[in-house]
Amino acid sequence: MPKIITIDGPAGSGKSTIAREVAKRLGFTYLDTGAMYRALTLKAIRANANLEGSESLIDLIKKTKIDIIAQKDGSLKVFLDKEDVTVEIRKSLVTQKVSFIAKIPGIRTEMVKLQRQFGKTNDIVVEGRDIGTVVFPNADRKFYLDADFNVRVNRRMGDFQTLGQNISLKEVEDDLKKRDNADMTRSVGPLKQAKDAILLDTTNLSIEEVIEKVLSYIK
Ligand code: C5P
Repeated sequence: MPKIITIDGPAGSGKSTIAREVAKRLGFTYLDTGAMYRALTLKAIRANANLEGSESLIDLIKKTKIDIIAQKDGSLKVFLDKEDVTVEIRKSLVTQKVSFIAKIPGIRTEMVKLQRQFGKTNDIVVEGRDIGTVVFPNADRKFYLDADFNVRVNRRMGDFQTLGQNISLKEVEDDLKKRDNADMTRSVGPLKQAKDAILLDTTNLSIEEVIEKVLSYIK
């Protein structure tokens, strides 16, 4: 049976950085499920789809191919119908809309199927919002990462700056508040700590310290 490590938590809690690095050190495959929701959101935006119209969006996902391909350095490339959208899906337009798409139950059902498929053939470190609770409830180890709101905002600001996107602190704060709220209150697959997940507050920890802690619980 492939081994499954899950990492859930809100935006800016450090999930992606930690999941990628832990996967690399364990020789596991890294799966970023947020990237899957982001890729579908990009497709919906481009298709001018009504983001409230769940029927047409569920139809859209059935006609969409999302590939997440691990690179030698441990990072991922995300392909939407064979087009490399790795950078595009991180931009603010997608970030602001993704929670609309992610709250649609039929979309989540399709995404969960794709994610479970991944776990059938690979040892994985998989991160998202509902991974320990819904996607892989029987995972080998589960983690829930969190951090103070202001720290999460600053991390996200840094991400946008790296992308060359000029976004105000207020915009990032508003986006995080809205996404936290949407992700935590939706009816299907809300963000919450699984009962058997290990909680790590990353507010005052360096990346290396979080990695060490996670690895110490796995070994
Ligand atoms: O992790 P990331 O910030 O890239 O995720 C983007 C969005 O995708 C989240 O705000 C959430 O709305 C959605 N998501 C989700 N379930 C997951 C992963 C991400 O609903 N497992």
